[in-house]
Amino acid sequence: MTQVSRVPSPHPLNWPAVLMFSLSTVGLLTLFPWYAWTHDFSAGAWIAGFVFLYASGLSITGGYHRLWAHRAYEAHWSLRLFYMLFGAMAFQNSILIWASMHRVHHRHVDDVDHDPYSIKRGFWFAHVGWMIRDYPSAKLDFSNAQDLQQDKLVMFQHRYYLVIALLMNIGLPALVGALCGDVWGFLLVAGLLRLVVNHHFTFLINSLAHYWGRRPYTVANTARDNDLIALFTYGEGYHNFHHLFQWDYRNGVRWWQFDPTKWLIASLSWVGITRSLKRVPEFKIQRAMLQRQFDALHARLGCCENPSRLAVLQQQFERELESFKSTVNAWSQLQAERLELARSKLADQWAHSEMRHRIYLLEESLRLQRQRMQALQWQPA
Ligand SMILES: [Zn+2]
Ligand SMILES: [Zn+2]
Repeated sequence: MTQVSRVPSPHPLNWPAVLMFSLSTVGLLTLFPWYAWTHDFSAGAWIAGFVFLYASGLSITGGYHRLWAHRAYEAHWSLRLFYMLFGAMAFQNSILIWASMHRVHHRHVDDVDHDPYSIKRGFWFAHVGWMIRDYPSAKLDFSNAQDLQQDKLVMFQHRYYLVIALLMNIGLPALVGALCGDVWGFLLVAGLLRLVVNHHFTFLINSLAHYWGRRPYTVANTARDNDLIALFTYGEGYHNFHHLFQWDYRNGVRWWQFDPTKWLIASLSWVGITRSLKRVPEFKIQRAMLQRQFDALHARLGCCENPSRLAVLQQQFERELESFKSTVNAWSQLQAERLELARSKLADQWAHSEMRHRIYLLEESLRLQRQRMQALQWQPA
């Protein structure tokens, strides 16, 4: 008879994370149903749960992620303070650790040895497994976060993280609950349930958003765009766009794409709380999408078995590719001219608006070409 022996993992358990995840999950699965069975939750508890869910979720996506990890915009101290407090409520580690790790994720995305939450090591690993043990891929190294180490608010939170996180997770719901006359209801809904739900919503960005969805901008990594995931991740479901254009303050780049983090940042800029919002030029976005279409059509031509049909399609493909290259060249030239114009003190308003118009025409020409390419892709091979 063969003996099955379990090989112990060479990586020690990360006890603070194990305790936090097991206590919150077991607590939710036992205390919550028992309380729901024996008591009534007040409406205030559910409202506070929803408000805290969004406050802590947006503090991770708008604060930890887009502000501190990617520097996609600048924020007034009051908003940074809000993000710092409610980000701690999300219990996903300090800003410094989170942002440093996330920068490593972007740098080494999908690399099984260096990406801390590489999807190539499995769905569960990318979702939560990477935090359960001390893996070398998640080793702390703040050499990529020196800017954050200069930030007093970030360092204050890092130093007193546990106290702030416990106060925000237990102290604040208990205090608001006491004011509304429902301490336990608030602790269970706005504290425990909100914490576990927010954990898994945001963890989906590392797992499902690298697994399921379309890749309209790049196939160089596993990141996907998925409208459904965006609904649960405060707008971070447009992860394919994000991995190509990580410093853009938007993830859902189209106005209609569900990205409440983008809407929050943009609307706060109208009252001066956020500023210097970074946007990728529309031309670069169109160019990336067209490049994907060319690659897809090229692969399709390789499978075409009808020689006469192949010759026609090949000809159309070459013609479109030529036109694409000349538009890209014209745009590069225009960028040089634009730089020159910015340096020149003589340039007047008219010169600037004329330049914007020429750029717009080039963007339009790529948009039209994308439509032609779509039609070409649908033609029978
Ligand atoms: Zn990612
Ligand atoms: Zn990112």
